[in-house]
Amino acid sequence: RRCEPRENRSGLLREIRTTIRTESLTERYDVIPGKELGRGKFAVVRKCVERSSGRTFAAKYLRKRRKGQDCRSDILHEICVLELAASCPRVIDLHEVYETSNEMVLVLEYAAGGEIFSQCVADRDEAFSELEVKRLMRQILEGISFLHQNNVVHLDIKPQNILLTSCSPLGDIKIVDFGLSRWVRGGQEIREIMGTPEYVAPEVLNYEPISSATDMWSIGVLAYVMLTGISPFLGNSKQETFLNISQIDISYSEEELETLEVSAVPFIQTLLVKEPEARASAESALQHPWLQLELVLKLPDPLSACQKSHDEDQGLLRAEGHDEDVS
Ligand code: ADP
Ligand code: MG
Repeated sequence: RRCEPRENRSGLLREIRTTIRTESLTERYDVIPGKELGRGKFAVVRKCVERSSGRTFAAKYLRKRRKGQDCRSDILHEICVLELAASCPRVIDLHEVYETSNEMVLVLEYAAGGEIFSQCVADRDEAFSELEVKRLMRQILEGISFLHQNNVVHLDIKPQNILLTSCSPLGDIKIVDFGLSRWVRGGQEIREIMGTPEYVAPEVLNYEPISSATDMWSIGVLAYVMLTGISPFLGNSKQETFLNISQIDISYSEEELETLEVSAVPFIQTLLVKEPEARASAESALQHPWLQLELVLKLPDPLSACQKSHDEDQGLLRAEGHDEDVS
């Protein structure tokens, strides 16, 4: 049974099916004291353990009033999107919801590996390898493709909102934070939702309509950052960053890009295109040569084994598959 998307004017879904519990969260959970898992503008995330199961969760506490405005409907939308994506393994699971007079608490699946941000800004020797970025990028695109097929745009894709199930060994990604996400449907325009400056698409800056392509721009920036540790449009001020984005002022000659496979930069370039209509979709990005499987295990069938020995006789050695390190 799926949550039936019902939207209002601003692209917010309203009908949730999760029970909103009004007893205290602490009746069923031990909230781990000390360090928070994370914090954003209006939310604090804390680790907690469900007493009945012993399982660890992440409790996201969201204030209902923000800047003097009632934002309960925004939180219901966030819940609804999580419900809508419940079957997608690339999106964090929602376990339970609690409400107090001031806050709503989303009890989420715990992503023990934390934000991919840590490894994006790490020293290059601790950063992701290209092979790892490819695997994670495939997963991110799978998640975003699911959302887009369900008419949801995330609008805040950045390394702080992509988490990992584990960090070492490197696990799988989980997309979080649907606080800015919107339900988009043909004919209805949404403009002017501001994500994070470095990841924002040109159409957002120009007050032009927002679409699934807006996410694809952010994924292009994300791929660049994951591969190089460099934020490609970051300027010394917000204004400078916005100027760099609207002029697509980006360098593809950084030394960090030189060692990558030849198809890596073209992949990024299919996403960092000014015209939203000309950008790759999540589905087409998944088909890009850079993301194709690098390891093809071929068992020799008698015929090709025959052919091979023939070629070797001829002094021909064919390179099969790629010479990449796939340890
Ligand atoms: P905000 O809307 O305030 O940005 P997020 O949902 O992005 O809230 O959560 C803030 C931070 O909390 C994330 O960037 C991440 O570091 C941490 N966090 C959020 N959800 C989880 C989770 N399920 N497991 C582990 N950490 C989480
Ligand atoms: Mg966030």
